[in-house]
Amino acid sequence: MLNNIQNGRYKSERKEMIDLIRHRGITDENVIQAMEKVPRHLFVSDLFVHRAYEDSALPIGVSQTISQPYTVALMTQELQVRKGSKILEVGTGSGYQAAILAEMGARVFTIERHMELLTESRKILDKLGYAVVSKCGDGTIGWNEFAPYDGIIVTAAAPETPKPLLDQLAEGGKLVIPIGTLDIQDLYVYTRKKDKFEIKQIYGFKFVPLIGKKGWRG
Ligand code: SAM
Repeated sequence: MLNNIQNGRYKSERKEMIDLIRHRGITDENVIQAMEKVPRHLFVSDLFVHRAYEDSALPIGVSQTISQPYTVALMTQELQVRKGSKILEVGTGSGYQAAILAEMGARVFTIERHMELLTESRKILDKLGYAVVSKCGDGTIGWNEFAPYDGIIVTAAAPETPKPLLDQLAEGGKLVIPIGTLDIQDLYVYTRKKDKFEIKQIYGFKFVPLIGKKGWRG
């Protein structure tokens, strides 16, 4: 289905992006294949389309960004997505991360607090044929209706880990979330082991703030 788009003018730029994320240490071939297929240029505004395959975050409106490709790849690799995994994303933004997860065969649920971003992301996800379940709301409290999740990915930075997200993880499930100040954060990867959590920390990221009941104040 994506072939016509993929064979277009952005093919060589997309290949350069993939070479770069491999070079930066991404090894999960399922992540790499998904990023080879999903047309990132369709998730950015016309103003920035010429920069769609740069390894940088880009504006998507309402002071928000589509995340940097390397960050998307790393967070997705840390989630350890399998075909059929049930994944919750907090922070739909452009819909690109949701498309990568859906391309990998995950069942994707995603929450965005800005209705206009949600509406735009739905249009493009539908156009590409990705069956993603989405809603407008405060993702800091998770989405209890569909819990537990095999993975939860938070694409905005929180001051501390929202407890509802940990509560909604399945046994063995992973929560990937940036935690820190408004200026700099570390990526935390929680793995549920019964009532305990293993925690891995990856240093030095910069995300837009996670705003909500269990996040920063808006
Ligand atoms: N995953 C996105 C993508 O692929 O384009 C990147 C999104 S951007 C870095 C983070 C998003 O989180 C923004 O769209 C922002 O509006 C959203 N956000 C912030 N706080 C939120 C909350 N409490 N619930 C849901 N979305 C939130």
